[in-house]
Amino acid sequence: VKKKGGQYEKQARPVEQAAVLGAGIMGGGIAYQSAAKGTPILMKDIKDEAVELGLKEARKLFAKQVERGKLSTEQMAERLTNIRPTLSYGDFGHVDLAVEAVVENPKVKGAVLAETEAAVGEDAILASNTSTISITRLAESLQRPENFCGMHFFNPVHRMPLVEVIRGEKTGDAAVAATVAYARRMGKTPIVVNDCPGFLVNRVLFPYFGGFSLLMEQGADFRRVDKVMESFGWPMGPAYLLDVVGLDTAVHAGEVMAEGFPERMGSLGGDGERSVIQRMFDADRLGQKNARGFYAYE
Ligand code: NAD
Repeated sequence: VKKKGGQYEKQARPVEQAAVLGAGIMGGGIAYQSAAKGTPILMKDIKDEAVELGLKEARKLFAKQVERGKLSTEQMAERLTNIRPTLSYGDFGHVDLAVEAVVENPKVKGAVLAETEAAVGEDAILASNTSTISITRLAESLQRPENFCGMHFFNPVHRMPLVEVIRGEKTGDAAVAATVAYARRMGKTPIVVNDCPGFLVNRVLFPYFGGFSLLMEQGADFRRVDKVMESFGWPMGPAYLLDVVGLDTAVHAGEVMAEGFPERMGSLGGDGERSVIQRMFDADRLGQKNARGFYAYE
């Protein structure tokens, strides 16, 4: 791989068949985006309902394109066939790049990555969509850590341009190059970053959530905070953003951030009292994914 002006030139292994592990908010979004931009993708989950939900979401997004006149119904039908839902690793032998997007838990991710590595060919690239967990740490569960890197999308995948491509200690150039090229093919803007808990964006975002949480402890009204941040010019405030991200994902990611930066993240995942974000999670208020978070959804 030649690097030129910080860019990775496309001597990368072309991704003709992709896969995504997990058909949740992120897995479903990744499957849609890959299919929409012409790369066939296997979408694997452990639950039938999850795969159905992922497909339903993709169908909805394609239908919106049809409504807007950007896609014909024939094109929609054809692109939808690019997503192949599955509950097994049966067809993974032909996968060039697999993105893991299961729950933000290092043990579950490690197990899923190891299973996937055993199912794909020797040269296949594995990537994790983890929000916070160190890629070097996740690589410990793999036999071929050089073929592994981070590929961190943002929510909602079809709208957010940025993808962080994360280089772990053992990540090889070929893995980075293939992942950068695939992100570009998906119409995204990849940036290559070094490994640490939270990478770049979440190192900025989580102290912000921590600040919001502290404000709430001190009696602030979340609607008011959201309005203020919107007037400040942000597209949405912290409470709404937490509902979009998922309170469960925020709590799990917060724990990893608190472990990585204990001096900065105490209000999110420290040993003290449960933060407002953690209490929302305890009360099964997960945000948009189960229609109740800070706000109520239809
Ligand atoms: P989610 O809860 O919506 O989906 C997780 C999916 O993984 C579920 O469908 C679950 O059934 C499936 N799953 C669990 N174990 C599995 C296994 N062994 N094999 C296959 N599938 C399995 O979660 P999400 O919000 O899509 O988050 C997924 C990952 O993406 C997490 O690592 C999260 O940190 C990261 N992420 C989330 C966001 C966000 O805003 N939600 C943004 C960027 C990255």
